[in-house]
Amino acid sequence: MSDTEAARASLCATKAKYSAEREKRLRSDGTDQYRDLTGLFEDFDRDPYADPDFQRDPVTCDTEVAIIGGGLGGLLAAARLAQRGITDVRVIDKAGDFGGTWYWNRYPGAACDIESYIYMPMLEETGYIPTEKYAKAPEIFAHCQRIAKQFGLYDKALFQTLVQEVRWQDDAGRWEVSTNRGDKLRARFLIIAGGILHKAKLPGIPGVETFKGKSFHTSRWDYDYTGGSPTEPMAKLADKRVALIGTGATSVQAMPRVAEMAEHLFVVQRTPSTVGVRANRPTDPAWATSLQPGWQTERMENFTRIVAGQEAGADLVDDGFSRIFGHNPKALQISTEEEELIDLAAMEAVRARIQSIVTDPATAEALKPWYNQMCKRPCFHDDYLPAFNRPNVTLVDTGGKGVERITEDALVVDGVSYPVDCIIYGSGFETGTGYKSRLGFEIYGRGGVSMTDAWAGGPATLHGMLARGFPNLMIFDQLQGGVAINFAHLMTELANHASWLIAQCIEQGIEEFEPTAEAQEAWFHTLLGKIGAQAMFFAQCTPGYFNAEGRMDPSAIRQIPYFGPLLDFVQILRDWRADGTLEGVETHSTQEATAR
Ligand code: NDP
Repeated sequence: MSDTEAARASLCATKAKYSAEREKRLRSDGTDQYRDLTGLFEDFDRDPYADPDFQRDPVTCDTEVAIIGGGLGGLLAAARLAQRGITDVRVIDKAGDFGGTWYWNRYPGAACDIESYIYMPMLEETGYIPTEKYAKAPEIFAHCQRIAKQFGLYDKALFQTLVQEVRWQDDAGRWEVSTNRGDKLRARFLIIAGGILHKAKLPGIPGVETFKGKSFHTSRWDYDYTGGSPTEPMAKLADKRVALIGTGATSVQAMPRVAEMAEHLFVVQRTPSTVGVRANRPTDPAWATSLQPGWQTERMENFTRIVAGQEAGADLVDDGFSRIFGHNPKALQISTEEEELIDLAAMEAVRARIQSIVTDPATAEALKPWYNQMCKRPCFHDDYLPAFNRPNVTLVDTGGKGVERITEDALVVDGVSYPVDCIIYGSGFETGTGYKSRLGFEIYGRGGVSMTDAWAGGPATLHGMLARGFPNLMIFDQLQGGVAINFAHLMTELANHASWLIAQCIEQGIEEFEPTAEAQEAWFHTLLGKIGAQAMFFAQCTPGYFNAEGRMDPSAIRQIPYFGPLLDFVQILRDWRADGTLEGVETHSTQEATAR
């Protein structure tokens, strides 16, 4: 057999294995398999970091811009508005501070998995240089606070505040934002930057509510129970048998830290992640001082180009992510045999790395992932695989089926009971569900029509941001919008766009704007034109949140994002702004509004 024939035979066998592994994991309940943190599970959603006794008087006020969400999207929007001199702004968040995901995710080992020099926004504006290539969560959280302080956002923030509904007032031409603290904010413009992965979910394992030991979700880490902190050892785990459910990006980071301290750790796996080399390192001061103005945007764009398979010249970030696409620019849309063979070689390397690090052969075998590399978000970590060699760590592989049952004091997998004191759910966040469900409140637009009703047939937007019937509203999400491996890059661009639009309205006396139905339909056709190979790629992938648990529903076609390269999407927004006519948008000026 020639080398080519051997490679083809290996590819054929591997594809059959990928397919069989996918079949094992397909479930009829798809995304319905998860439980949200309400009712019985309400306590899982409690904020362990904020003052539980916090009280304040209700706020009733008029404001130019209300921003819902103080995570990267909301923070950047407020900062960009401040740079344009628009400071009559209010930011509302259920958390006790700015930071979004970096407020909530304080689990041990949390760090950015995208290089911090391109992930942490506004480094040039704040004059800050991260201490490491992959900064740890407390440093990123502190950077969010730095941005908020620099742009004077703290006295504009309403924290520990849950929005209950937002309602457009036809007569006043204002949004009214109502909250659980009795606030009534009347805003001319509304930005909803609720985050795409912010609503924690639990697996719907039978008996999950019966467990009498301690349990919590990774995004609500209970250091009172574990002891320690994001940076200090969790001494109170020394006499605890702990189960960590899930092996996604979060658990890969948290697992080695729990393993260091727990009496015993059971890592419960449904689908293994790919875990490549992290090679984190301190920032080189000489490199930092050599940076020229404009360096961060250049570096962000360089990375985004590379991971979209576009020509970018030198690979400035040069890490695991950029190398995947450097070797296989079409890693997200494999369609030729050549691309398949490159992906196979990359996955063979991932599997060989496991084999070379994990000493127990059965554990090593079970940790091997069988799918195309980009089917799940790739992970990079240098302590995760070695931690399986510790005597106090057991991999509980569920053969793709998940935990069978939870009892008062144990979890059961394949008929075997594992008694534990504590269950930590690294089970991820709601995505791909309805917009209202993820947001947690309803949006009522013109004539009191809810977004749920207006979008009953699927979302309709211009650029994924503006929606007809919902004047002066700007949504930061991935529905019909751009998708990014570096989420901070996408948020930076959306914040630029929304702040420009608001500034234009103020400058030109535009009181109300909303897209035309024709522009929304044309945008949807642009999205359809970009579906191509990427959607096909995900359709054949192992189930996960990238493909609605393997059940991509053709009736949800209107939820598709812009599948083309992010920088093409960004260019569409830039061209639209440069054109200056607000093409596809109906506007009402001050005079018309006054006459109403
Ligand atoms: P994921 O959704 O990626 O992982 C959830 C895990 O729970 C999966 O391993 C899943 O298995 C498992 N699971 C679900 N149900 C069961 C069950 N019934 N029994 C056993 N296991 C189960 O969530 P993460 O929180 O890990 O990551 C979410 C995202 O957050 C990442 O993909 C990444 O985008 C982001 N992130 C970003 C970071 C950054 O620095 N930018 C850092 C960390 C996370 P299965 O795979 O079979 O579904």
